[in-house]
This record gives sequence, C-alpha cells and structure tokens, in this order.
Amino acid sequence: MRIKRFFVAAALLITSAVAVMAQEMPPIPIDDQVRIGKLDNGLTYYIRHNEYPEHVANFYIAQRVGSIQEEESQRGLAHFLEHMAFNGSENFPGNGIIDFTRGLGVEFGSDLNAYTSIDQTVYRVCNVPTKRITAVDSCLLILKDWSNGLLLQEEEIVKERDVVHNEWRMGESASQRIITRALPKLYPGSKYGERMPIGLMSVIDSFKPKTLMDYYHKWYRPDNQALIIVGDVDVDHIEAEIKRLFSGIKVAPDAAKVVAEEVPDNAEPIFVFEKDKEMPMNQLMVMMKTDATPEEEKSSMAYLIQDYLINVISSMFNSRFSEMTEDPECPFVQAFGDYGQYLLSKTKDNMEFIAVPKEGKDLEALKAIIRETRRVSQFGFTATEYERAKSDYLASLEKSYTNRDKRKNDEFGNAYRDHFLSNEPIPSLDYLYQTMNSIVPMLPIEIVNQVLPELIADNDSNLVVMDWAREAEGLVYPTEADMQKAVAEARAEQLQAYVDNVKDEPLILPEKMPKMGKIKKETSNATLGYKELTLSNGATVLLKKTDFKDDEVRLQAFAKGGKSLYGPADYNNLKVFDEIIGFSGIGNFSSNELQKALAGKNCNADATLGLTRQYITANSTPKDLETMFQMMYLYFTNINKDEKMVSNLMTQLELALKNKNLQPQAVFSDSITNTIYCHNPRFANIQAEDLKDISYDRILEIAKDRFKNAGQFTFVITGNFDEAAIRPLIEQYVASLPGKKGKGDNFKDVRTFATGKVVNNFTIKTDSPNAMSYLIWSAPMEYNLENDVKLDAVGQILSQIYLATIREEESAAYTCGAQGSFDLSASQPLARLFCITQGNPEKNARAVELLYKGIKDNSVKIDTDALNKVKEYMLKQIDVDAKTNGYWINTLTKWKDYGLDFYTDYKKVVSGLTAQSLQEFLQKLMAAGNQIECIMMPEPKEADK
Ligand SMILES: [Zn+2]
Repeated sequence: MRIKRFFVAAALLITSAVAVMAQEMPPIPIDDQVRIGKLDNGLTYYIRHNEYPEHVANFYIAQRVGSIQEEESQRGLAHFLEHMAFNGSENFPGNGIIDFTRGLGVEFGSDLNAYTSIDQTVYRVCNVPTKRITAVDSCLLILKDWSNGLLLQEEEIVKERDVVHNEWRMGESASQRIITRALPKLYPGSKYGERMPIGLMSVIDSFKPKTLMDYYHKWYRPDNQALIIVGDVDVDHIEAEIKRLFSGIKVAPDAAKVVAEEVPDNAEPIFVFEKDKEMPMNQLMVMMKTDATPEEEKSSMAYLIQDYLINVISSMFNSRFSEMTEDPECPFVQAFGDYGQYLLSKTKDNMEFIAVPKEGKDLEALKAIIRETRRVSQFGFTATEYERAKSDYLASLEKSYTNRDKRKNDEFGNAYRDHFLSNEPIPSLDYLYQTMNSIVPMLPIEIVNQVLPELIADNDSNLVVMDWAREAEGLVYPTEADMQKAVAEARAEQLQAYVDNVKDEPLILPEKMPKMGKIKKETSNATLGYKELTLSNGATVLLKKTDFKDDEVRLQAFAKGGKSLYGPADYNNLKVFDEIIGFSGIGNFSSNELQKALAGKNCNADATLGLTRQYITANSTPKDLETMFQMMYLYFTNINKDEKMVSNLMTQLELALKNKNLQPQAVFSDSITNTIYCHNPRFANIQAEDLKDISYDRILEIAKDRFKNAGQFTFVITGNFDEAAIRPLIEQYVASLPGKKGKGDNFKDVRTFATGKVVNNFTIKTDSPNAMSYLIWSAPMEYNLENDVKLDAVGQILSQIYLATIREEESAAYTCGAQGSFDLSASQPLARLFCITQGNPEKNARAVELLYKGIKDNSVKIDTDALNKVKEYMLKQIDVDAKTNGYWINTLTKWKDYGLDFYTDYKKVVSGLTAQSLQEFLQKLMAAGNQIECIMMPEPKEADK
C-alpha cells in the first residue's frame, strides 16, 4: 500500500493552510456543462453541447472490458469482435456502417474507428455533420448496434480472420516479439502476462463463431458501457433518443461482474532480459511499482495535488537527464522518467525510467538511473529546478485556460471516457485554474522533496528492471546476476548533491538590442483577409488575425534557395542540418541554458532547410510573443556552437543508424528513395558511414549563408495577436534584421525523379513476414487549384476501392491505400500518385494486381457513388481545416510563393468534380509513362524452401 502513504505524506506535509483547505474543500466538482445520466439497466451517458467547431459532433461508446476478460479459448476475440463491429449489424448490414458514415463525409480509419486494449474497448464516429438531425439520429443507432446489435455472421467472420491475421503480421516486429515473451515474466502469476489484445493466431484462425458470441453477450452490456456525445447537438433531444433506444436492453440479474485483475507485489526484484535480431538499439527500463490510486479517492483534492506533484517531479527528472547527456561519459544518449500506470495494468502504478544506453553500456546506464534516483531521493531537487518546473506547469495551465472556450470535441470525449472507465476527475477549466493557482504557491520545494522517497524505492521491493537488446554474434549480454550487481553497486555509492547552474540574463542583453527598423508600406487583401507590411529591410510580413485558438500565434518565414544551392561535398551536412541546428544554442545560451531560460514560457522557434527554400517556424501564446520574436531574431543572426549537445546528437544518430538495416521498414525506405531519385546521393537517406563526413562548422556556415538576408524573406503570421502590440515587435525584431531588397537567391533545379518504367523488386532476410509494395505514377503538370484538388480526390477514391477489394474482400493486405500530391521541389511541378500495400507475402501478387487494376479501371470509369462520398468529405473537411492557423500559414505561403489562391474557389472546384473529369485526369497521369514499382518480399525460410 505504498501509494496510500504517498497520499498521506503529501496531505500531512502540506503547509497547514493548504491542509485545512484540502480537507475543507468538497470533492472536485464535475463540470456542470456536461449532462451525465444513467439508465435503469446501468447504461451511463455523457452529453455535452460544444460549438467548437460548429455543426459537427463526436459519438463514442466506451466499454469497460477488453482482452483481460477473455478465457483461454478466446485469446484475441475482444479485438476480433471490434473488427466485426464494422461488418454487419441489425440496422447496418454488411459494410453498412462504413458506407453510411462515408456518405456523411466521415472517413473510415480516421474519424470512424475503434481500439481494443487490455481493459477497455472504445468505438467512435467523429466529425459527423449535425445540420441534418437524421444524421445525428443515425449515429446514435450505430452506437446502439455496437452495444448489442452485432450480427456476427459466419461468412463475415471467415473473411475477417485473414484481416486480423494480417494485422498481427503487420505488428510483427522486434519489439512486439520481445513484449510477448517478456510479459509473463513481468506479470508472474497474473492474467496480464497472457492477454495481449492481438491474441493467439491459433485462436484467430480456428475459433467457432459461438465462442465469439459468448464473449459478446457476456461482456457487452449496458452496465459496462457509456455513451459519449459531444458537439453541436441538442442535448435534450440526444438524451430523449438515448432513453428511447437503449432503455429496453436488459441485463440478466446473474450477469458476470467485471473484476479488477490484481498485480502481485514482488519482494524480490524482477529482472527481464530479452533480445531480438531486428532490434536496432537497446532499451533499458527501470520500474518501481506502487498501488494505483483507488478510484473512489480520485475525486478528492489530494488527487489533484498528487497529479501536480507527479507532473513537476517527472519534469525535473527529465531536465536532469537531458543535462546529463551533455557529458561524453554519460552511458545513455537519452533517458526519461514518468509516473503512471505500470505497463498494461491500471491496478498498479509505477515510477518508470526509460533509457537508451550507448553501445555496450546497458549496465552502466542501469547504474546511472539508480544513482540519479538515489541522488534525488537523498538530496531532493533544488529550489531553482522546482521554480522552473512549477512555472512550466502554471504556464501550461494558463495556456489551456486562455483557450477554454475553444476546446475540441475529442478533448471532452477522452476526458469523459476516462471518467467513466477510471473515475478521472472532470472539473471545469475555471475550477481547475482557480484551484491550482491558489494551491500551487502553497506547495514549497520541501513538500515535493519529502514525498520523493515514497515514489523512489531504494530497495528490492517492487523493483522491475528490463533490458531489451540487439541479438548478434559476438555480443555479450548482461545476466540477471549482473543486473542485480549493478543495482547493488549503485546503491552503495556515496553521492553528492546536484548543483543547478542557471544563466540569469535575458535572451538578448539590453546593450545588444537591435536598432528598430520601420514598417514602410502597408496594404491589405480582403479576399484572403490579411494585411501586408513591407519593412525597411525589404522583408514582407503578412498578418492574419484569427480567433481559432485563443492561446496561439504561429509564424513561418520562408525564402528561396534551400539545400539546392549546395553541392556533393555538402550532401551529408545537409542531411543533418535541421537536427544539428536544433541542438545548437542561440545568442549567449547553450541549448541547455536556453531550455532553462524558457521555463514558464509557451513559445518555440526553429530554423530548417528544405530542398528549395529555407524556413524559420515559430509559435507562441499571445503572452510570450516577444520571447518568440527574440528567438526568431537569434536564429537569423546568432546561432551558436554547442559542441557538447551536438556530440551527444551524433552519438544518438550513430546508434540509430548503425543497425537500422535490421529493420525491414528502413531497408524498404532506403530502397524506395533510391529508386525514386535514380540513386542520386543527394536524396539518399542518411547512413551511419555518412556521419564521419559531417562538419559542424560547415553547417553553421550554411546556416549563416541561408539566413543572412532577411530582406528576401516573407513572414506569415496568423493567430490571436493584438495588432497594436505586434507592430512594435515586428519593427524591433523583424525590420531590424540585416537585409536588403532585391531579387535575391533562387533555387537550383536539382531534382532527379525517375522517369519511364522502373522496377525494383527484391527480397530480404527477416523474421517479420511482411511484403511491402509501392506503385508510383508521376507526370509533369501545371500546379493549380484544379489539378491539386483532382489529384487529392483521385487518391481518396482509390483508397476507398483498395480498402474494399484488397483488405475486405480478399484479405490480401492489411494496409492499403493511395495518395496524390504535387512535388514542387523543381521549376517543373510533378503530379505524383502513390499506391501502397503491406501485408501477407503469400497474397502480395494478388494485392499488387489489384492496385494496378484499381488505377486502370478508374481511368475508364469512376464510380459516382465513391466520388460523391469523397466530395462530401472534402467539402466538410475544408470547413474544419480553414479554422486552423496551420491551414492559413500554408495557404498564405502558397499565395505569396506561387501566386495561387487555394482558398476562395476551393468548394466550387470540389463541387464541380465529375467522373468524366477525373477519368481524364487519371488517363493524363498514366499517359506520361512514368511508373515505378518497388516490392520487398521476405526471403522464404530454409524450412519452406
Ligand atoms: Zn484491429
């Protein structure tokens, strides 16, 4: 019962004022904007009206059952059942649910989906248009069918066996194999060790329909279910409909109870070591188990305090780990700590640490983790570390509070799900904000430090250590005794307290403040709703004020040139440019000092290089706008060398790249990239041996070169800024940047996209039996709104067809789809259509045949029904997208960069799409004669030959 003590300790130690407050305060109140009810049969519902965004709603049904409820003969059936929910129900026979929702512009896979985990199964239909009440009512009917109207017909079950088997094959990977082997050891004596939701293929391939039926009727019952409806709906109407549809469902008096599966404590430590030939790098985990907070205690104030303490403790651990990696002697390249659910089981929590050890340093990394937890436990965190963690917490609370009127439907949906499944509190943001702002200042560092020993075990009780490693000849692996010894040695060490070095100065010193420039000219564009400023240094600024999110301002600056201007000697430098600049410092600050200096601020900036353009991207809350501008200013003028951080980055890259070819995905990705770009080394993915040619100095030189003339740049700024306040910031930090007007750089045409018919089919040795296939068509084509819309629509129509034929009808692959996009990285725009499948090698030939057939058939005749559904989706989606700042950054960038307005006529162009026009478009795309086929097959095993 360690967590109990953690609670009591926290409550007792709190200064008397808070203690009194916490005791006297009533339980955390439930937000009064949600209507919660329960029918006589036990069905719970949550309904909330939310107009952000308008005219759409989300529908969920959450079940508090999953794979842990399965009998041995049912292993995998909780998940199988979830698949069957889309394959025929009382009101929606066959593919009825998918077909019907697609007609509403709801896409299967993204907006219509479900998941099965060990203790919950959740279905959802999201972004349903609500203007037609019949659409809303039909979605309630879908929930009704899911709750107890599945048909589970034998012929559908037979078809789905292959689909699920393919899904298992897809997930087959080094970590999947390792987890499956490790779980029984991590959960000795518990069902958790043997209930991975994907289950046993022996069961999937041969279970009797009745076994599935048994699970369904035993567990899918109103008393285990909650309906959640959030969005632009009439709450009274929804409630009445729920009562009408669901009240008649009966629960047998002797129905089985959902019983929590306990996880036994372990007095002796558990050491788990697992290896796999396709594991690219090792991973070390240290877990200290505690009892989970009982659900009935989660509505108390103490739970909010606990949540806060966990938040700041994890954040302080992570800052220390990140700082440690600056030291070349540090045995890991990355490490994280967090508190939460112990792996799969919500009946147990843990303080968990994950590290990626440097090669051969697994035991050293284990010692380092134990050492740091002990240091923290013995000496506590420092007051300055706590100040930063606390201000980060409060800043993030402030950010959500600022945006409280614009919370998305899924944010509520997830919160209500967690309330139903685990009694997580759902107070209003007003309450949370007021309460935490009054409590946090009363929680000094001493309290945080005194609860630490409750979270960090300094003994063997409930300790779990897990090491996952790459299997290869000649490698030496730690034994259980070695791990035990490492832990013991780390525990015997004499430790010293941590010293927090903080740079106490502003990002830009007053004497270094640039001389302000001027806004010289100003125009406005009514169609796209922005103001355009011309600055004294030649830079152009587009300002579009929006009210989509109250807590967000975004900036993107771009200019032509990019990587295309540099030759072969720099290819490898260009490949890691973004990462290295990201790990560098700015101004007087090293990367780590910058992290510390940004505590309590919500803003960020990055400098990156595309093939033909260079970019600065940044974001901020309205409050931290000036800091964002300062960071942006420093990326233009003063990126500084941070050797320590970059050397850690290089070690990370080396570790990641050295064995990347053990992963079939990586091999395929390299191969397809080389095929697409005709083996041009400029475009090849980076390899471990390329790292030796990288020059940090040269990268900084390139950065300087690319960002030397701000006069060439266009800055697009959208979001919730105050115009009067942003103008002086623009004059101070943008107009002051070095720059001069003029034509400036252009990019070079360096793209080498394959033409003609190209085939690259090959096999690899692997334990993951997946085939992967890519077919790509390309054609030079004018880039304009019409062609862009057509290319997008064609990809979506083909995706629908592939899903129906390849995945559902023939179970030839689990993943399949198509996507069209323009390549704009040279003067000649290129329309490209990608068609992909991934799945069963035995059926791959058929899957590829169907990919070709889909294209060919559709160039002759496009199915009007499929087309109409895609149009419906695109028309609905644009309304959603056009209410995001990201959409406007892109749209205004295209407008300034290409002179193309992708917004104004978008709906007109989509509405005007006809089967005829798309058939012709596909014919044109195919007529160019550029087609790539790239197929990777696993080599047959010796035994199969
Ligand atoms: Zn699945």
